[in-house]
Amino acid sequence: GEAEPAIVVEGLHKRYGQKIAVDDVGLRVERGEIFGILGANGAGKTTTVETIAGLHRAGRHDRGTVRVLGLDPQRDRAALRQVLGVQLQDARLHDALTVDELIGLYRSFYPHPRPAAELVGLVGLEEQRSVRFDKLSGGQQQRLSIALALTGRPRVVILDELTTGLDPKSRRQMWATVEQLRDEGSTILLVSHAMEEVERLCDRVALLDAGRVLATGTPAALVAEAGAADLDEAFV
Ligand code: ATP
Repeated sequence: GEAEPAIVVEGLHKRYGQKIAVDDVGLRVERGEIFGILGANGAGKTTTVETIAGLHRAGRHDRGTVRVLGLDPQRDRAALRQVLGVQLQDARLHDALTVDELIGLYRSFYPHPRPAAELVGLVGLEEQRSVRFDKLSGGQQQRLSIALALTGRPRVVILDELTTGLDPKSRRQMWATVEQLRDEGSTILLVSHAMEEVERLCDRVALLDAGRVLATGTPAALVAEAGAADLDEAFV
C-alpha cells in the first residue's frame, strides 16, 4: 500500500569468495526521504546499494530480502528499471558518443523521459552537448552519469559518491539537483564520505562499518551518539 517504505532491506549478507562484504544489513527508507549511507572505504556501502539495484546475482552464502517500492530486484528487473535510477561509482560509458547521443540513447529506454535540455540543465552541461564522452573532464563525466540516472524520472534514485572528486561549484550544483529531486517527490539513497554533505542533505543516515550497520538516525543524532572522533574515522 501507500504506507509501504520506498526501500526495505532485511538480513542482507553478501560475500565475494571468502570475503564478507555485507554482514546482516537492515535498512528502511521512507518515501520522499533523502537517506544517507556513510562509512569508510570497504565498509560495504557500494555492495549494499548495488544489491538494492539488483546488480549482484545472489551466491550460495548470500541471504536477505530487498524490496524497492515492493519490487524484488532479483525477480522484477524490468519493472525496477522503470522506477529506479542509479548513478554508479566509476561508471564507464561509451567513449565515442557525445553528451547528446548518450542522452538520446538513455531517453529511448523510457516511455516518458525527461527532455534532453532539462537533463543537461540539471547538471550544468548545457555547453557540452556536442562533446564526446572521452573529451569531458572527470567531473563532467560524473555529472553526465547523474543526468543519465535521472532520464526516466525515477521515483527512487541511488547516488554513489555523488560529489567525490568534484570541485566546490559542481558539488553545490549536485546538492541543488538532489534537493530538486526531493522536491519532485523522489526518494534518494545517497552514499557519501562527507559529513558536510550528509548534514546538508540527508533526513536520516545509516553508519556502516565492516559490513554492519553501527547506527541509524538523523545526522545530528548520529553525531551526538557516536561522537565526533568515531565519525571522523568513518569518513576517511
Ligand atoms: P568504498 O568507499 O571504497 O567504495 P564501500 O564501503 O563501498 O567502499 P564495498 O565496495 O562495498 O565498500 O566493499 C566492501 C568489501 O568488499 C571491501 O572489503 C572490498 O574490498 C570487498 N569487495 C568489493 N568488491 C569486491 C569484489 N568484486 N571482489 C572481492 N572483494 C570485493
